[in-house]
Amino acid sequence: MSQDCVFCKIVRGELPAAKVFEDNEVLAFMDINPVMKGHTLVIPKAHHDPITKTPPKMLRKLITLVQRIARAQVAALQADGINVSQANGVTAGQIVPHIHFHVIPRFASNEPHRNWTPATYDSPEEMNDYAERIKQALT
Ligand code: AMP
Ligand code: ZN
Repeated sequence: MSQDCVFCKIVRGELPAAKVFEDNEVLAFMDINPVMKGHTLVIPKAHHDPITKTPPKMLRKLITLVQRIARAQVAALQADGINVSQANGVTAGQIVPHIHFHVIPRFASNEPHRNWTPATYDSPEEMNDYAERIKQALT
């Protein structure tokens, strides 16, 4: 638990939240500033951050709940698509430093949305070089 962390405060009941699901380890609740109505956040109750330091066992629990929320958004809101987003670090756009997955319903009536711009590599060799560097660092 982190004293000042907004999501830890929600877990402790010190801040309100519209909860969708909770058990001993994980919690899903409404994002107060939804990208689309129904936008849900999935978090661990224990304070973990970022993804590189979160135990794999917890990540499995989180992604399983992400899937359940996505299925419920399709069933309850008739979502035509779902975006799952997860930011690590200020550089990546993260605001709350407590690991969370955004589960965002998307609708055919809206513009297709993906908040990144595809670019290109200078050459196939450059792409292979990036692949090799990541491959060599896998643990
Ligand atoms: P991120 O930029 O990935 O760190 O996203 C943090 C998200 O938390 C934003 O989408 C905020 O709208 C949301 N948020 C911040 N404070 C609260 C809160 N008290 N209750 C619900 N959602 C929150
Ligand atoms: Zn926290």
